[in-house]
Amino acid sequence: MAADPSVLADSRSARLRPPACGQPWILTYHSVCEWTSDPYGITVSPARLDHQLAWLRRHHYTGVSVATLLRTPAAARRGLVGLTFDDGYRDFVHEALPALLRHGCSATVFVLPGRLGGSNEWDRPGPDKPLLTAEEIRTAADAGTEIGSHGLRHRDLTSLTDDELRLETQRSRELLRDLTGVTPEGFCYPYGSVDARVVDAVREAGYGYGCALTPGPPAGPYTLPRTHISHADRAVRLRVKDLRHRLRHRASAAPARLPESAQATAGSGERR
Ligand SMILES: [Zn+2]
Repeated sequence: MAADPSVLADSRSARLRPPACGQPWILTYHSVCEWTSDPYGITVSPARLDHQLAWLRRHHYTGVSVATLLRTPAAARRGLVGLTFDDGYRDFVHEALPALLRHGCSATVFVLPGRLGGSNEWDRPGPDKPLLTAEEIRTAADAGTEIGSHGLRHRDLTSLTDDELRLETQRSRELLRDLTGVTPEGFCYPYGSVDARVVDAVREAGYGYGCALTPGPPAGPYTLPRTHISHADRAVRLRVKDLRHRLRHRASAAPARLPESAQATAGSGERR
């Protein structure tokens, strides 16, 4: 069965509003730390993040969580940009969060409750990066960060059986609810890999929205497109990405449904 964006209105997350006037701008980060090796282009230095947030503020953007963005009526979203951090790296609380707070911003971090305090074992070969512990996730939540699910263990959801898929979506939501006391509203597809069956599982698990990477149309509240931000993104590149998003989504109406056969796997070359 295809996903129907209209279900958002009567879902358990009904207070989230689907994009009604073009797509809101949502940025994708992963890890924030000093680095020497970054084969997948997922790491920005703390200083670069600071400059990027300053750039957003200079251009009258306030970074907010995706839930905040979707709760805001479309007409009032001007000036808001969603900030997301995938995988739940430990450096989020030590590097990203202080920068966000300094710039008056908040964000959504998509974590892996099946790998608490573990590392990014799915990214081999590649540098070892520790993941948030349960306590650090609570610290982030207490500081105003939206905690979303990235599944249990960072698996390609399109390759799983129905039972495995249910565990990754439903069980991860339950674990995060138990961990923070707040039931997560957002889900983020590992590797950006999503099809209609996966969208249905996410919706049926009770999530109000799903973040993809950069899927082709049609987008919807369960395949929200995002813009990847890298260490290479200084002012000019940020301006280009801002303009490209505006041009791509300027006149788009409420996102249509995801076709049953659609494989909205990310098309930007990023594979996280
Ligand atoms: Zn990921």
